[in-house]
Amino acid sequence: MSKFWSPGIAALTPYVPGEQPRQRMIKLNTNENPYPPAPGVEKVLRQFSCEQLKRYPDPESLALRDMLARTYNVTRDQVFVGNGSDEVLAFAFRAFFLHEGEALAIPEYTYSFYPVYCQLYGIELEKIALNDRWEVPLTHFPEKGHAGIAFANPNAPTGHAHSRADIKALLERQRERVVLVDEAYYGFGSESAVPLIEEHPNLLVTGTFSKSRSLAGMRIGFAIGSKELIEGLERIKDSFNSFPVDALASAAGIAALEDTQHYEECCHAIMATREATVQTLKDLDIEVLPSQANFLFVRPRRHDAVSVAAHLRASGILVRHFGTPGLSDWLRISIGTDAEMTALTDALAVQASAD
Ligand code: PMP
Repeated sequence: MSKFWSPGIAALTPYVPGEQPRQRMIKLNTNENPYPPAPGVEKVLRQFSCEQLKRYPDPESLALRDMLARTYNVTRDQVFVGNGSDEVLAFAFRAFFLHEGEALAIPEYTYSFYPVYCQLYGIELEKIALNDRWEVPLTHFPEKGHAGIAFANPNAPTGHAHSRADIKALLERQRERVVLVDEAYYGFGSESAVPLIEEHPNLLVTGTFSKSRSLAGMRIGFAIGSKELIEGLERIKDSFNSFPVDALASAAGIAALEDTQHYEECCHAIMATREATVQTLKDLDIEVLPSQANFLFVRPRRHDAVSVAAHLRASGILVRHFGTPGLSDWLRISIGTDAEMTALTDALAVQASAD
């Protein structure tokens, strides 16, 4: 505790991201895309004039928002962009979930950043237990008296996604507060809730370029919702006096959105690798939850999860183990290339055969 800190800072529990290794390892711990971004992104970066960097970027990010609006079939004023969806989520939590005496409802196991934002902004939390299939139980969210609802779809770290029809049914019961659906892992087989915003002005869908568009290093995230919600986010952004997305990231993001063929091929390759990996893991006596994301949530049966993660690490492969109570038997494994997943399953087979 430093005497220079504001009161309250010492009590914060910072988010601990997955390890970024210094030496070359097979990195299956932070759900990045194993494939490079669309070739147009590289072209944009090579042709980008440094002259442009002496100017501030467009404070309204009009070009990127227009491109997102075209991609999602909405209007520009229904789109907000920020430096990664983490920043967009931070703005949304401040803009919509701070209601005195009311708690934000989130699933018990979901993106671990949500409780961090809540602690930071003093938002009370109510955690709703997952069902016995490890799914977000949409019918268990309270109908009234809460500050809002937030969950990831597909959920992290479990990978299960609800259909658009399920989310529509939830929204029919939720008219008072904002329902935030975090679609960071959209693109790998799930349905987007974006078409529901037309009828539900309280629905905010967030997304990112970090996963399906292979641009985690660029930091581009976005939110799509009614004009009312987007205006709420803009008020927060303006008071931070920050610019939504820098000029280089904006140009790269547009190039990534333009190449739908690359996007679809990349997502299909990841889904095919995922399904092949599921089968091999099951053959190795590992429980695997069904996933519509670019990762698998698995429970080894022959060894405990910590020793499996340690064995993989020693074999040059990083996966994610969460120390969280209730999740300690499980590992989250990002989907890499076919060769990376073969290295993973080979290493697991070595441990299994050493019994
Ligand atoms: N939402 C979820 C569910 C995530 O897992 C992540 C990344 N780990 C994010 C949002 C944030 O992604 P980014 O800031 O890279 O857009």
